[in-house]
This record gives sequence, C-alpha cells and structure tokens, in this order.
Amino acid sequence: MKDIIAQLHKNEQQSAMCIVQCYDRQNSEFEVQEIPTPQLRRRPMSYKVKLNKWWCDCRQFQALKLPCPHVITVCSFSHLQLVIFVSPLYSRINILKAYEIQFHPVQNQNYWSPYTGLIYDT
Ligand SMILES: [Zn+2]
Repeated sequence: MKDIIAQLHKNEQQSAMCIVQCYDRQNSEFEVQEIPTPQLRRRPMSYKVKLNKWWCDCRQFQALKLPCPHVITVCSFSHLQLVIFVSPLYSRINILKAYEIQFHPVQNQNYWSPYTGLIYDT
C-alpha cells in the first residue's frame, strides 16, 4: 500500500511538469505535453490520454492501473477525482484477499523425488 502511495506521489510531482495541450472532452481524449525544463534531460514528449479507455501513451496507466503523471494532469485540468482512476484491485480488501491463501513451506531438498525427465499427462 505504501508503494502505491509513493508511486502516486511521484507521479503527482511529475504531473506538475505537464500541461494539457488539446482535448476532446466528449470522447475523453487529451493530449498532454511535457514542459521543457533543465531537469528533463531529453526532448519533451507529448502523450495521448484516453480516460474512458484507461489508456496513456506512456503505458504506465494500463500496466499499473494507477494514474500516471499525464492522467493526473488531465484529472487536475478537468477537475476529476484521481481516485476514480485507481483500480479497485488496490483496495485494501482485495490486497488482503490475495494473501489469505495459506502458503506451505517447501520441504528440504532431501525429500524431493529424483528427476526422471518430463512427465506428460495423457
Ligand atoms: Zn502517461
């Protein structure tokens, strides 16, 4: 949970270096442009954000299901609550569910069966 909050905080800081360049609010599509700063040690890039499809060109949004800096910029621009774009997978109940399965320790290697090649089920 702390990692998620830390990631969101980092993304929020990076979002301060981005602006919404143009948008199509009806289709919830936005173009977010990085602001050239001395800290940005590469050419500024632009990213397409499709909010209703949970898509950003940076791919972080799709991969982590957490708002990336560009989605945060769009949310701020559009006065949308960020929490809408945090996947329910990160809810406390779901995290607890993931760990409710009991894990059995692996026995000492002396108890392992000797390797006899691949076994195919027929
Ligand atoms: Zn992004």
